[in-house]
Amino acid sequence: MSELRQDPTTEEWVIIARERAKRPADFVRQQAKPELPVFSASCPFCPGNEAMTPPETLSYRDKENQKWRVRVISNQFPALSPEGNTARKLNDDFFISMDGMGIHEVVIETPEHNKALALQEKSGVVDILHAYRERYNAMIRVPFVKLVIIYKNYGPMAGTTLEHSHSQLVATPVIPKQLRTQHKVAARYYGSTGSYLYADMVSHEIKSGKRIVMETGSFVAFHPFASHSAFETWIVPKVNQSSFGDISTNDLEDLAHILRIILLKLHRGLNNPDFNYVINSAPAGDEDKNCFRWHMRIIPRLIELSGFEIGSGINMNAVVPEETAKFMREMKVG
Ligand SMILES: [Zn+2]
Repeated sequence: MSELRQDPTTEEWVIIARERAKRPADFVRQQAKPELPVFSASCPFCPGNEAMTPPETLSYRDKENQKWRVRVISNQFPALSPEGNTARKLNDDFFISMDGMGIHEVVIETPEHNKALALQEKSGVVDILHAYRERYNAMIRVPFVKLVIIYKNYGPMAGTTLEHSHSQLVATPVIPKQLRTQHKVAARYYGSTGSYLYADMVSHEIKSGKRIVMETGSFVAFHPFASHSAFETWIVPKVNQSSFGDISTNDLEDLAHILRIILLKLHRGLNNPDFNYVINSAPAGDEDKNCFRWHMRIIPRLIELSGFEIGSGINMNAVVPEETAKFMREMKVG
């Protein structure tokens, strides 16, 4: 029998479709991705082609030869850009719009064209997370910015055909509905129980242990009770911290460790799947509201959405998170 499960952070429902049940191993990618060269002359993200990109906003370079390890640039085709103002406009006497204000940057994660994030050394992932924190903190302080989303698209199913490993930051002048919902639910939970939703969720996940993938001193990674899709993985800090910008340098290194292992397990276990990840953090001005906690969600793109999901907002997940978490937990990656 199928089961409806509720996501406690959004109150959304998910169908765990036991009738169509699949085994975790059914999600292994059948076709290998093409082999890539270490350098591509036409790739704007490869070293030597820096003039092909918009201006750099940050880079980390080796002391001895000044070669960059990580480079952050403005997006050449930004979804949002800093010109204009945030005044609402009325259209056709009814519809609301505003200038497409925002900031959109790209983090070039490595000088090597063919180096997937899952295969980076820990020091490389630490560099990337440092760049996220530095640019996040710069953007969230811009007066018109309300929210900064950090995300990665990997592979065509995840929305990118650019091969060179990269991720992105977008600063928006509005707080999107999904984040508002997360905050509202967390605040209401605090109001009615006097305790923090994310703290309680993490402690119950640890106590149950069934959906835990791994745990470090500062983080826990698990497949949520109401996973919206197969192998959806959350990484949540153990301390109450609403803004990713407040992460300590020690915790940043711990996050690099757990993220790298999770991505490596997905890479090995599912044969290099396409995936997205996002870091959800508090809106500007809400950094001290501890009822919310920043977190990272990794979503392997294994199946397409159906009309039912678009129509209902109820996702269908054909595999039980307890089973995928066990599959991931027991996988040895050395
Ligand atoms: Zn490249």
